[in-house]
Amino acid sequence: MKKVLLIGAGKGGSALLPVLCEDKEVEVIGVVDINPAAPGFKIADELGIPTTSNYKDFLEKNHVDVVLNLTGNPSISDEIKEKRGGTEVLGGLSAKIMWNLVSERKRREEEKTKLAEDLERLNIALTESKEYLENILEHSADIIITTDTNRNITMFNRGAENMLGYKRDEVIGMPADRLYYDKSDRQKILEILKRDGSVLNYETKLKTKDGRIIDISLTISQLKDNAGSVIGTVGISKDITKRKEMETKLKETNQELNNFVYTVSHDLKAPLRAIDGFSGFLLEDHADKINDDGRLYLKRIRGGAQHMQSLINDLLELSKIGRISNPFEEVSISELLEQIKEEFQFQIKEKNAKIEINGNMPVIYCDKIRIYQVFSNLITNAIKFTKKGVTPEIKIGCEDRDSYWEFYVKDNGIGIAKEYHKRIFEIFQRLHKPEEFEGTGIGLTIVKRIIELHKGGIWLESEEGKGSSFFFIIPKKVT
Ligand code: ADP
Repeated sequence: MKKVLLIGAGKGGSALLPVLCEDKEVEVIGVVDINPAAPGFKIADELGIPTTSNYKDFLEKNHVDVVLNLTGNPSISDEIKEKRGGTEVLGGLSAKIMWNLVSERKRREEEKTKLAEDLERLNIALTESKEYLENILEHSADIIITTDTNRNITMFNRGAENMLGYKRDEVIGMPADRLYYDKSDRQKILEILKRDGSVLNYETKLKTKDGRIIDISLTISQLKDNAGSVIGTVGISKDITKRKEMETKLKETNQELNNFVYTVSHDLKAPLRAIDGFSGFLLEDHADKINDDGRLYLKRIRGGAQHMQSLINDLLELSKIGRISNPFEEVSISELLEQIKEEFQFQIKEKNAKIEINGNMPVIYCDKIRIYQVFSNLITNAIKFTKKGVTPEIKIGCEDRDSYWEFYVKDNGIGIAKEYHKRIFEIFQRLHKPEEFEGTGIGLTIVKRIIELHKGGIWLESEEGKGSSFFFIIPKKVT
């Protein structure tokens, strides 16, 4: 083993010292520096290596095979070589190369350690987020199931256990098809999945372990590996059984209500006709026997009965929308508008109204009778709610918006203040006294319901005194 003396405990010395100590061929027996605060001294102390400021003295007292001169001062090397022939001295360029090599190795090692630490941190973060995600999947109240390419279940979360009654171990490896109430539905879902890559909010039914049927809304997508190959599916299902029950109940209640309105309205019609008819007879045939007050009251009775008849007719129409559905057909809107103009020619002439149809009207797939009602309600309102002394101008048009048609009916009438834009579509909502404008406040409710029946929407743009523009959209494909 070579006994080595290190002269110079600065940067180079402190870098070399630990490396030399690791070498089994070398024993560092001392470290020399004239600076008592040299960093290499601290390392030497830790390693139990003697330190001194006097190399000459040290060399006198100890046998040294190799002196490493890291001071950069060649005279020290020369002096030792001269006085101690048997001692090898490494200094100047050779010491510098050695020091460079060592510091480079040290730098690399530090880098390696840092990389390893970074990797470790990344690994921890990855594990944490994986656990976090797994936790979310596991504890989600929704049913989360993954399958492999053979349609067998590979993951079954706690939500699935709770809702379907199976334990995970019972279903892992089982074909997912078995969970479906209607197997052909599963087939349909897989076909859409293959075509579109995902299926959103598909409503279907699953069978629980104890044979109950639950309604679910399923969103399913393909699972792919890093190379992009499909390795299975992941499906998330929400239990919508309660919602479905409520929807059915609501439908039944609505149906009952509609039937009730229909029956009541129908039964009310006959006595009303009698009131209207008999008060008419009294006014026409017995007017001479009734004084002025009596005649005024009779007129009021007749007016009231007639208003009630309009209300009943409109209510009957409204109840029909939910009860009676007409088959959809291709309808030419231009022809339909011509029929409306003909039906209301008296009102149009009376008000001297101008009706302008902008551009070509499309042929749309719809319930003809209902869409006729939509246009006739909007057009008669536009003729009715006009400003005194202003010729009513009504513009009707349609824009092709790719997947839907957007129609408009615009007028230059009295307009509607913003705060009423939503409310006017509610039943019996009227913004004027009967003596200003007659009506029932049901027309726009009918219009809105019909549009909704066609899966469309209606809105308006208007300001008080500045005319109204009603817009409604009808999807081209009504399912
Ligand atoms: P009705 O016309 O029988 O009163 P609607 O349901 O058709 O009932 O309309 C509700 C209310 O909306 C009307 O009473 C009127 O105040 C307002 N309205 C409807 N259309 C127009 C219009 N084109 N211009 C101004 N106000 C309108």
